[in-house]
Amino acid sequence: MKKLNLWFCYLLLSYFTILTSSCSKNNGDNSNIIIDNGKIALGFDKNNGSLSVFRDIQNSHDWFDTTSVTGSPWEIEFTKDGVSELIDFSSATKFSSSKPDPATIVLKWKKFNKPEISKLEVEAKISLDKDKALSYWNISVRNYDGKLLKQVLFPRIAGLKEGGNEYLAVPQWMGQIMKDPRKNLAAIKSRIRKYEWIYPGLSFQCLALYDPEKCGFYAASNDSLSYIKNFSFSLDTLNTLVYRMHNLPSLDPSSANYSTPYSGVIGTFKGDWITAAGIYRDWGSKQRWARESRIKRNLTPEWLENTALWVWNRSKSDNVLVPAADIKQRLGLPVNVFWHWWHGCSYDDGFPEYVPPREGKKSFLSAVAEAHKKGIKSIVYMNQRLWGTTTESWTKENAVEHAVMNAGGKINTHVYNIFSNKGTASMCMGTQFWKDKYASLSDSAVNTYTVDGVYMDQACSALLCYDPDHGHPVGPGKYWLENFGKLTDQIRSKIPQEKQMILAGEGCGEAWLPHLDLMLTLAVSKERYAGVNQWETIPFFQAVYHEYSITYGNYSSLLVPPYDELWPAEYAPKKPLEMLDKKFNKQFLMEQARSFVWGMQPTIANYQAKLASQRKEEIDFLLDLARTRNNALKYLLFGKFMKNPDFETPYEEMDISRLSIYAGKTGNSVTTFRGTFPLVYSGTWQADDMDLGIALASISDKQVPVKLGFNADEYDLPASGKIFIIDDKGRKELGSYTKNEINVDLTLAPGDLCVVEVTSDK
Ligand SMILES: [Zn+2]
Repeated sequence: MKKLNLWFCYLLLSYFTILTSSCSKNNGDNSNIIIDNGKIALGFDKNNGSLSVFRDIQNSHDWFDTTSVTGSPWEIEFTKDGVSELIDFSSATKFSSSKPDPATIVLKWKKFNKPEISKLEVEAKISLDKDKALSYWNISVRNYDGKLLKQVLFPRIAGLKEGGNEYLAVPQWMGQIMKDPRKNLAAIKSRIRKYEWIYPGLSFQCLALYDPEKCGFYAASNDSLSYIKNFSFSLDTLNTLVYRMHNLPSLDPSSANYSTPYSGVIGTFKGDWITAAGIYRDWGSKQRWARESRIKRNLTPEWLENTALWVWNRSKSDNVLVPAADIKQRLGLPVNVFWHWWHGCSYDDGFPEYVPPREGKKSFLSAVAEAHKKGIKSIVYMNQRLWGTTTESWTKENAVEHAVMNAGGKINTHVYNIFSNKGTASMCMGTQFWKDKYASLSDSAVNTYTVDGVYMDQACSALLCYDPDHGHPVGPGKYWLENFGKLTDQIRSKIPQEKQMILAGEGCGEAWLPHLDLMLTLAVSKERYAGVNQWETIPFFQAVYHEYSITYGNYSSLLVPPYDELWPAEYAPKKPLEMLDKKFNKQFLMEQARSFVWGMQPTIANYQAKLASQRKEEIDFLLDLARTRNNALKYLLFGKFMKNPDFETPYEEMDISRLSIYAGKTGNSVTTFRGTFPLVYSGTWQADDMDLGIALASISDKQVPVKLGFNADEYDLPASGKIFIIDDKGRKELGSYTKNEINVDLTLAPGDLCVVEVTSDK
C-alpha cells in the first residue's frame, strides 16, 4: 500500500499562502450589497467586495460577528521565472458591484496598482440557489499576459466564528471527522496552520464544519469533470477559520484568461456530516458517474455481488488459495481472494515485472484451476502507476520518457521498500505507452494466468505531470482520470466477456464509479496503519454513494504482517506469521463490525486455518457476520445510507495495534495505542422498496440492551408494518408497529450481529 506516503506528500505539498493583511471589518448596514433567498443571505462590502454578511436565516445564525475580519474573497497566485506572487483585492484600485437579478451579485476588480498586472481584471459572480441554502461561486481572471497562473483561491471565506461544539468532516478516502478543528490547528507548530487536501484523493467534493446543535458550514464544488483542485481550512492570525477552494489551471504560457469551469458551492445546514452527505448526494447522485456506475449499469458480475468474504493473503498459492478454501468450507458461502505478492518480482521495487508468478507458471495455473473448481476466484495486485527504477525493464523499455515529470522538470522517485532501498517512479497515465504496458500486463494476468480480476493499486487519485511532450495539458487538469477511463476500456477490450473479469482499485472516488467494479476502503481499519489520532474514520463515501459502488477491504488481522520472501533475508522476522497478542482481538472485532454496519464486503487479512481453533471466538464472529450480511444484501450491498435512530451505546478503552509490513527490520512490527471506542456498531440502510434495515453488531463482553424508538415518517415508512430480525440463520418476525411508532427492545449478547428490518405490512 502506498497511500500513506502519497497522501502525506500531498499534505506537505501545501501551497504557502500569505494571509491577507488588507482586510475590512464586516458590518450589516447598507454599505453592503445583499442577496437573500429566505434560507441564506450573503452580503458584500460595496467599497471593496469583501464578504461581510453570511447568514443562515432558517437557523438564525450569523457566521460573522462584529469582530470578524473577512478580507478578500479571492487570492491569485502567479509565477514568473520561478518566483511566486500572491495578490488579492487590495492591489485593485477600482471596484464595482452589481445585482443583475435578485439572486445574483457580480463583483469586479480592475486597475491593479502593479505595472505588470495593471490590465488585470477579476470578476466574481455569486448566485443563490432557488430553493436551497446554497450559493454558487464563479470567478474569471483576465489579461494576465506574461505571467503564469498557478492557482486561484476562490471562494475564500475568512472570519468564520467559532461554532462551539465543532466538528470538521472531510471525504479523505472513505471519510474522516475531527472534533475541535480550531484547537488542533492551533496546536500545529508552524507559521502556517492549515489542513489542505487534494481532489481527487478526496473521494468527492464536499467538506462540512458544524456544531450539530447550532449550524453547519457546507463547502463543495459542482465540478462534474473532476478537475484536480485543493480544499483547505486554515487558522488565521485572529484565530478565526479561513476556508479556501484552490482552483488549479493547467500551465499554459500562451493563456491570459481563466474562468473556473465549475462553481464553488457554499451553504449552511443544521445537522451533522450525514446531513451534509445528503446535501451533496442530491447533486452527486445525478451526475454521470452515478448513472454510469458499473453496478447501476449491471456490469458488475454476479460472482462479485455474491462475494460473502474476501481473504487478503500474500505470496504463493499455498499461502493464499489453500487458506481461502479452508474458510470457504467453514463459511459455506462464496469466498474470494485478494492476492498480493503473487508476482515474480519483489513487492514495490520490482514493478512492473509481475509475470511469470513467483511460484512458476505451471504451479500457479494448476493452483488457480483447483481454486476455480472450489468456486474461489482471485484478483491480483498490480500497481497502476509504479515502475521500479532499478529494474532491467526501466532501462530497456526507456520508461523514463513516459514517467510523471514534476514542476521542476525532474522525475520524482520514491523509495517505499526500506529493506532494499530501491526506488520507484510514477508512470504518466496520459501516455499511450503506459496504458499499453498496463493493459498488456492485465491481459497476461487474466487471459494467460487465468485470474478473475486485477486490483489496481493507487487508483483513485490523480497526479500532476509537467512533461510538455506527453500530449496532455501541463500540470493540473482532468486528463489523469480521462486516461484512467481509457485504460480500463482498453483492458476490458482484450478480455472476453465470459471471463467475468473485474477491476478493483485502491481507495474510492466518485469519478471512478464508471470504471471500477470494486473499491478498497481500508480506512475502516485506519488505526492499523495510522494509530489513534485526532481523525476518526466515518463512512462518508458510503453515505453519498453506497448504492452506486461496492466497497471492500480491511487490514483486520489476527497475525503479525508477513515478510516478502523476495526481500533481503537479513531483515526477515524469526517467526513469520506470528500470532498477534490477544489484547488486540477486540480491535479485530471492531474493524469487522464497522465494515458490516457500513455496508462493505467483509475482508480478513492474513487468514490461516489454525486461527479457526486458536482464535475461535474472533473467527466465529466473522463467519456469523458474513452469514448475517448475506441474508441482508438488500440493505448492506444495495441499500441507501440513512441516519441511525438514536440509541445509547457503551464505550470502552481498548488496546489498538499499529503494524506495518515494512517494520520487520527491528523485529518489532507492532506499536500499541490505547483508544476509546463504541461497543455497539450500527448502520441504517433503505432498500429500493423503502424497507429499512438497521444493522447492529456488538463487540462487548457483556449483554447490551438496545432500545430503538422512532417515527415511521423519519424514514418514509408506512404508518403500520412489521418488524423482523435477520441474523445468520435467516429472518424471523419480531412484531409489528402501528400509528407510525416503531419501538424495538433488544438485548445483544456478546458478539451478537443482526439486522432489524422494518417493512410495510405485506
Ligand atoms: Zn505526463
